[in-house]
Amino acid sequence: MKKNEIYTSEIIDYTTEGSGICKIDGMAVFVPNAAVGDIAEIKILKVAKKYAFGKIERLITSSKDRCNPDCPVFSKCGGCTFRHISYEAELRFKYKRVADALTRIGGVSEDILMPIVGAESADGYRNKAQLPVTVDSDGRIRVGFFAPRSHRVISFDECALQSPVFNKAARIFLEWANSESNSVYNEASHSGAIRHLYLRHAKKTGELMVCIVANADSLNGEERLVGMLREGLDSLTTVVLNINKEKTNVITGKKNRVLYGDEYITDELCGMKFRISPLSFYQVNRSQAERLYGIAAEFAELKKHETLIDMYCGTGTIGLSMADRVKSMIGVEIIPQAIEDAKKNAERNSIDNTRFICGDAAKAAAELKAEGVKADCIIIDPPRKGCDSSLIGTIYDLSPKRVVYVSCDPATLARDIKLFEEKGYKAEKAVPVDMFPRTAHVETVVLMSRVEGK
Ligand code: SAH
Repeated sequence: MKKNEIYTSEIIDYTTEGSGICKIDGMAVFVPNAAVGDIAEIKILKVAKKYAFGKIERLITSSKDRCNPDCPVFSKCGGCTFRHISYEAELRFKYKRVADALTRIGGVSEDILMPIVGAESADGYRNKAQLPVTVDSDGRIRVGFFAPRSHRVISFDECALQSPVFNKAARIFLEWANSESNSVYNEASHSGAIRHLYLRHAKKTGELMVCIVANADSLNGEERLVGMLREGLDSLTTVVLNINKEKTNVITGKKNRVLYGDEYITDELCGMKFRISPLSFYQVNRSQAERLYGIAAEFAELKKHETLIDMYCGTGTIGLSMADRVKSMIGVEIIPQAIEDAKKNAERNSIDNTRFICGDAAKAAAELKAEGVKADCIIIDPPRKGCDSSLIGTIYDLSPKRVVYVSCDPATLARDIKLFEEKGYKAEKAVPVDMFPRTAHVETVVLMSRVEGK
């Protein structure tokens, strides 16, 4: 197989990232934006030792899953993986992704896996956008998303995934940016000021936060920006300048300067009020988060006399939404601002049976063990890399009867389930939940129970 050659082949599967796979001369070729069932002429773009990359040169027979991508930049932008197949086909892919990981890596039976919980709407769900700012070839400042596996910005006028109000906020920001003298940040030379436009929308209360991430302590025309945003956006409650002078891929810096309103917005989730600061984690799909937490609560089967630990608790949303069902709830989280929000959230919702610990989950669990704390149920919701293996051992020592694992990465989830099973827990039930329609990401909730006598 050689670069630039064209072969006719059928797409037979997807990679975990959602690229199509076909086999040419016995070798796997990865083809982005392809659909299982497509028969196409595939042009080879790059050949590695054991696999190759290609693109569709000409579609001969379309997969029955195909639909019209309803976005002009879909084929270039890294924001969406699936706008070219039906939502139903996307859900089938996600269910299979979870099933494959659980059975192949986790070694558990597919029987424990329940049907995937799809979203009511596959569009407009994102309540958070972090848009890189760029200067287009015509000299105008634009916002966009990075192209896949690249830092090239693909600019757009409207993005269907995000809260519709973000499109309006971006237009106002760009009108301001294109009429002020601030420079735009350049990653390569680490120079220039404006890095990202960062937007957050509390969908239930309607509150809107506009945050400009800058490689500077201040920008020209800050007051004018606030005036323009206030005039154009009824729901605006907060404008923040986040200062990030580091040469890094991490989007936000640690320092915020409030230009208008409070430093946070408030949303409602599971009937409770939560404050969201620029640096705190908050689920990007609010309505699916309620369903996710509902499943986690059902799996947790909490009782009034019990102690619950919410590990990786963010602003405390999971634990606080269940605190009235238990005697006490302990939340653990590494980001200080999120813990501050969590404490305020407990106060605001008049919940007084909680305690929050700021620190690394594994270390905090070891401290709780040293204090002699015993938990009846532990909910863990780690980032993509999953749990620290030492945490799994300490969780066992805290002797919960039930562990509910909320995961955003099927592969690390499956790896961790295996470690939990070695310790004496058994995976009983799992449900995939689609929190991120049109992307290849999928969330999973798993119930593990302690095996008697272990
Ligand atoms: N359960 C929360 C947050 C989940 S996201 C919710 O549903 O909203 C994962 C959280 O883990 C983030 O808030 C992140 O800051 C936190 N985190 C990441 N690494 C951690 C660590 N080593 N110890 C404790 N918390 C950590």
